[in-house]
Amino acid sequence: MNPTSDPNLKCWLKLPKDTPFSIQNLPYGVFVPPDDGNPRVGVAIGDYVLDLAELERRGLVSATPGAAKYNPNETQDSFLNVLNRAGSNTVFDKPSLNAFMRSGPVAWHQTRVSVSKLLSGEDPRLQMNEELQEAALRNRADVAMRVPVEIGDYTDFYSSKQHAMNVGTMLRGPENALMPNYTHLPIAYHGRAGSIVPSGTAVRRPNGQTKKDEDAAPAFGPSKNLDFELEVGFFVGTPNLQGQPIQIKRAAEHVFGFVLVNDWSARDIQKWEYQPLGPFNAKNFATTVSPWVVSLEAIAPFRCAGPAQDPEPLPYLRSPGPWAFNIELEVLLQTQDMPEPVRISQTNYRHMYWNMCQQLAHHTSGGCNLRTGDLIASGTVSGDAPGSYGSLLELAWKGTKPIKLPNGQERKFLEDGDTVIMRGYCQGDGFRVGFGDCSGTVLPAPI
Ligand code: CA
Repeated sequence: MNPTSDPNLKCWLKLPKDTPFSIQNLPYGVFVPPDDGNPRVGVAIGDYVLDLAELERRGLVSATPGAAKYNPNETQDSFLNVLNRAGSNTVFDKPSLNAFMRSGPVAWHQTRVSVSKLLSGEDPRLQMNEELQEAALRNRADVAMRVPVEIGDYTDFYSSKQHAMNVGTMLRGPENALMPNYTHLPIAYHGRAGSIVPSGTAVRRPNGQTKKDEDAAPAFGPSKNLDFELEVGFFVGTPNLQGQPIQIKRAAEHVFGFVLVNDWSARDIQKWEYQPLGPFNAKNFATTVSPWVVSLEAIAPFRCAGPAQDPEPLPYLRSPGPWAFNIELEVLLQTQDMPEPVRISQTNYRHMYWNMCQQLAHHTSGGCNLRTGDLIASGTVSGDAPGSYGSLLELAWKGTKPIKLPNGQERKFLEDGDTVIMRGYCQGDGFRVGFGDCSGTVLPAPI
């Protein structure tokens, strides 16, 4: 077992019961302290943020800067040697995780080990130094969080077969629900990186062009069918060169860590614009991410088998083992008249038909290069049961089965003032490895 994931590890700080940010988690984020306004890298632990820039200044953590390169013909050892080159520049006193992500898997592991030891007390230099604690530990409630990564490109997959079945059934009927290509390749589209916002940012309802079936001509105005999509995303850490596809057996080496993603979607705009080239303005107005990046190392103990794949994928897409993850997911809705959020969906990431290794192998199979900081989202995570669907479109089945809220309100789609909160965690033996909130409130459309 990786010692940083040992269920018996205990932190000397007092952590709330069931905190998503246990000592087994140690997710990375970019925070802004209230007193100096300089964004930098920290680790969430319970109700605190541990300032890695401060620890780095004092020599308690270090990572190796420099570009991690990938050559599919290198052996594992020489690849890791390239990543392990020495250097001296700061990687944590930065407004994004990119410099740390470029340092490669060895540095990620070494940093995780250093932080774990400082927080368990095995390395006593933080526990025994009150002045350092004063300088390096912040209350999480007092800091502002940024989008943790400078995101170059954003790709959104469509990897839940149940979601594809549900949407296909609504659009084309149950016989033609699944397109013939679905079980042969992971479907995706290229999204918009510039409109990705951190959790807590309000999202404005988009105006757009829509056309009802019964109308002769389209109209322009506020979307009436605003929706969310519950997704899990991962960030590419180690890039690949253009023309050098990532081989599926080594795909996991490229993954830095995971966040929750809300792919806000205007269904009425989508319905009118999506043929023949897919989503455009229905999606590009906003995408929300949770601010803490849970490393692949932290969720590795929760790997599990995904659904059986039939037919067997082509050789370049055959998964090198069980690469699904057991992540409990939920969506809560809060309305202006209902201040206490209620859960409207509960599902699990393990249901995804295509896993991250298959997504990376397919994405790069034609030679496409992925860069450090690219965000790859899963697509809406929907389970088999109606209560486990990851969008309002499916939960209220295209408006035909409105969701009933405890205060008597109903929802077919989102209304102005509604807040969508997504949460997710892996349940360990006595601890959780979780994501914190991915939330956003809907504002009225611009006039
Ligand atoms: Ca999506």
